Amino acid sequence: MSTATHTEHSAEELCAKGAELYERALREGHVRSEDTTEAPCLVTFGLLQPAVEDPDQLEPVAPAVAFHRLLRNVEKRIRDERDREARLAEAFEH
Ligand SMILES: [Zn+2]
Repeated sequence: MSTATHTEHSAEELCAKGAELYERALREGHVRSEDTTEAPCLVTFGLLQPAVEDPDQLEPVAPAVAFHRLLRNVEKRIRDERDREARLAEAFEH
């Protein structure tokens, strides 16, 4: 079993492993949960979720649904960023 460490990356850019595994999950309908060792991002970003019938299996979340989730995350980050900017601007105005 591989112990390759997974590099942190943002939800908008899936790593090669993650993209490959997600594609396979979409094609085959599921992947084993141990397959995500090298791409934990798929679970973290909500692209894969545990199958109801078998917790050892992960099912792909439909790309459209996953995309909307990603989009919400991105929107939230942009909002946070704007809030921080506003706070900074305010701090320097005084
Ligand atoms: Zn990844």
